[in-house]
Amino acid sequence: MTIHTTSTSRVGTEPPRLQQFVGGAWVASSGDSWIDDRNPSDASDLVAYVPEGAPEDARRAALAAAAAFERWSTITGVARADHLYRWSAAIGDRQEELAQAVAREVGKPIGEARGEVARCVAILRYYAGEAVREVGEVIPAQAAGALQFTLREPLGVVALITPWNFPLAIPLWKTAPALAFGNTVVLKPAETSSHVAALLAETASVSLPAGVFNLVPGSGPAVGEALLRAPEVSAISFTGSGRVGATVAAIAAERNIRYQTEMGGKNVAIVLPDADLAQAASLTAAGAMRYAGQKCTATSRVVVAHDVEGPFLAELRRQIDALVLGPVTAPNAAVGPLISEHARDSIRKTLGASDAERVYEGVVPDSADFANGWFLPPTVLRGAATDSELAQRELFGPVLTMFPADDLDHAIKLANDTAYGLSASLFTRDVRSALHYVKHIKAGLVRVNGDTTGVDPHAPFGGMKGSSSGSREQGPAAREFYTEIKTVQINP
Ligand code: NAD
Repeated sequence: MTIHTTSTSRVGTEPPRLQQFVGGAWVASSGDSWIDDRNPSDASDLVAYVPEGAPEDARRAALAAAAAFERWSTITGVARADHLYRWSAAIGDRQEELAQAVAREVGKPIGEARGEVARCVAILRYYAGEAVREVGEVIPAQAAGALQFTLREPLGVVALITPWNFPLAIPLWKTAPALAFGNTVVLKPAETSSHVAALLAETASVSLPAGVFNLVPGSGPAVGEALLRAPEVSAISFTGSGRVGATVAAIAAERNIRYQTEMGGKNVAIVLPDADLAQAASLTAAGAMRYAGQKCTATSRVVVAHDVEGPFLAELRRQIDALVLGPVTAPNAAVGPLISEHARDSIRKTLGASDAERVYEGVVPDSADFANGWFLPPTVLRGAATDSELAQRELFGPVLTMFPADDLDHAIKLANDTAYGLSASLFTRDVRSALHYVKHIKAGLVRVNGDTTGVDPHAPFGGMKGSSSGSREQGPAAREFYTEIKTVQINP
């Protein structure tokens, strides 16, 4: 049976049963339970069967990664860079196929899916460069004539646990720095993005030595938790919900191993009276509604100065109208479906229970293209209490809640009034307002006249408060996480 291959099969062809990629070979998962992995734009399209998996699957992969670490950690940075360049080329060769697979499996509009693949190529090239940079620094010693310096060394086997919404980019922005600095990895992808993860492993298989990159699809509780507890694992990098992040942190603390958790957000845009309202509305609409609001950095609240609420809302409505809600392979689709029926129904329930005024409500067209997809129309609400579910909980859908503000300080107070602190934007033309906001906003990603989503792959990424713990990801911050320092003193 063909198991891990790149099936784009539709009706009439059996979907693939995913395997693990361990020690450079494709192997069947233990156990015989399978999870249906469906296309969110058309749930009648079964993308793959994902193994539920078992704890021994995780251990087997951790052992393979530990065996590969012996050699990978001792080859030169130049040699590791060559492998990463090779991997970026392997992904580049399959760009369109990968983008189509992302669109189909996680419901990402095709334009953004293509952007995600291009970003993966850029990530691998960036970290190939990082692999040949300095690995320590010279520090003057107290003892005369002594040479004192630091060496950055890899941690060992790193467990990577990832969500479904950036099914290629998040696994890669963890894997690439881990490998560049000499670690080996085991990736446990989300159940609903495991087919794309298998394609990523195919590109790794032609670029990397055996055992350096291992993939164990499976359920979080069965395989993910066993991976976190595998004795060979020396560090954990997790991205996902706060609920699972808390479990990850507890296990890492118990084991006294390094970890980072990137979690949810309740991201905010602030619009001041002097803002370019067309720009503010266009970027707020994009930040809130593109990919149906399913980015951790999506704008879910907008705080608008009283004076400009009316004209801002009028422009916001026009901008949201311009974003096409459609099956994700439509070339102009911008919004797309929710990841699951459960996600859609849970947001519907929250909206139904709220007495906030609906100031914008889109419609899902009544046509065959939408009949089997998990679509939810864009919605904007006003008048929600600041302690309500709408104001406080990460909904992860195309829902934006508007709050009026008296002035900049009031706006910042409202913006900071959540348990999260991932991303924030301010729209203004006044540099003093911008500087005041940069100082007082509690967010890891802070924008002025930009949308809350997106980040350059070479810039640190992460949040404050309940959005993250441990060090930042990406750019120079990744070196901090994926290496540890040895301080060496050589005396005459
Ligand atoms: P999730 O927390 O449900 O799952 C994330 C991963 O954890 C999956 O691989 C899952 O199988 C695994 N998992 C579940 N239970 C586990 C357990 N007991 N032990 C070990 N692993 C377990 O998240 P999701 O629904 O896949 O993704 C959406 C969430 O991710 C949102 O909250 C979003 O904000 C967040 N996210 C954050 C960032 C960021 O960088 N801050 C980026 C993307 C997504």
